[in-house]
Amino acid sequence: MGYSAAKINLEEQWERVQHLLLDEYGEATFTSWLKPLSLVDQKEGCILLSAPTAFMRDWVKNHYADRVKALFQSENDNVLQLDVIVSDVVPPQKPKATSSEPFIEIHNVGSNLDPRFTFENFVVGKPNELAHAAARKVAESESVTFNPLFLYGGVGLGKTHLMHAIAWHIKKCHPNRKVIYLSAEKFMYQFIRALRFKDTVAFKDQFRSVDVLMIDDVQFISGKDSTQEEFFHTFNALVDQNRQIIISADKSPSDLEGMEERLKSRLGWGLVADIHPTTYELRLGILQAKAEQMTAPVPQKVLEFLAYKISSNIRELEGALTRVVAHATLVGRDITLDSTQEVLRDLLRANDRRVTIDEIQKKVAEYYSVRVSDMHSPRRARTVARPRQVAMYLAKQLTPRSLPEIGRKFGGRDHTTVLHAVKKIEDLMGEDKTMCEDIELLRRTLET
Ligand code: ADP
Ligand code: MG
Repeated sequence: MGYSAAKINLEEQWERVQHLLLDEYGEATFTSWLKPLSLVDQKEGCILLSAPTAFMRDWVKNHYADRVKALFQSENDNVLQLDVIVSDVVPPQKPKATSSEPFIEIHNVGSNLDPRFTFENFVVGKPNELAHAAARKVAESESVTFNPLFLYGGVGLGKTHLMHAIAWHIKKCHPNRKVIYLSAEKFMYQFIRALRFKDTVAFKDQFRSVDVLMIDDVQFISGKDSTQEEFFHTFNALVDQNRQIIISADKSPSDLEGMEERLKSRLGWGLVADIHPTTYELRLGILQAKAEQMTAPVPQKVLEFLAYKISSNIRELEGALTRVVAHATLVGRDITLDSTQEVLRDLLRANDRRVTIDEIQKKVAEYYSVRVSDMHSPRRARTVARPRQVAMYLAKQLTPRSLPEIGRKFGGRDHTTVLHAVKKIEDLMGEDKTMCEDIELLRRTLET
């Protein structure tokens, strides 16, 4: 076969591999990590791919390269190795715009930052490692790495903390850079105010002269047409000038409701990093770090108990610890397991009824003798696919999580996959008595 034919062949194989990757990892993961890869060449059995940045290259190598290689090998027997390099295209640096007189009451960041929300105080664990790594990268790099950085996750999982940490870091290391942090609500308020005073030009300039713009909780912009429009223009102007934008929301760009399609798609252009619900290990790590700063000593047993019992979000966890310590200080007694249970009785009851997806995955894996990692893995063999569907079904039934959230917990699968699993299990329960019994048994062990 001639060289060019081989090359065309390779490109076709790469295209098929990409389709398989999209299927396996779901759209969010695929768009963030796999779609930006390009096929460079094949040399002596080594497939060479390129990624736009070093950060992306490292992440892909650590998380996806093995799978990409395996898929390539199933397409092409000659493939022995796979490597990822950084593509050498450098984005153009545009000159900075000059800033205009501030009219709008938006200050350079500082006064509205929480001094506790720093990188030093952020405990890193599996659920937030990507978001944390991306935030650090953005805070530390001199040039714009990915634009925008889009952080998303449920309430109280550390989005605002990470954004403030980025701002603090830049403030410390590059005091001349202009950083603006504000909530989406504040952005809307400012915009509406500018409209009233007919000073939208100043409003625009104000934003367009920043180096780093952070907007927290953009889901609040949904539905407000004129604000969205303005946000979109500001956003485009800043991206064009190569300024860094950091956005947070409670959902992924594609799941944001009431948001215009072109804005959604634009928001997903950079790096989308999600913060998953906490694990026991992370909760315990956070409690230990917080306990060290408390006025009274908190026994390890109590920390473990709290980490085990309060799984909803970190804000609630912190609140619980503060309450326990405050109570002990007030009544002048040591903190014990008993006093903790007493002080937190209402809170614990509310948390008691909650089953987490992690527990479901663990119990279901145990029940069917498969590995917990099979719950996240792309493997489609019936022996692991069925238990995975059972776990998705139970997650839908026993937790308040949405279909996209559940999909994410199962190796970044699409919400339609979850929906399909739920239907499939319902169907099976209709025809198969064993399935009904399995589900019933699992439900009972999970709920008690
Ligand atoms: P979100 O903006 O996602 O709703 P926040 O950033 O306000 O959540 O976090 C809620 C609380 O939990 C804050 O007090 C924050 O400091 C704390 N927190 C969240 N994640 C972490 C973490 N990984 N390490 C330490 N504290 C954390
Ligand atoms: Mg927040």
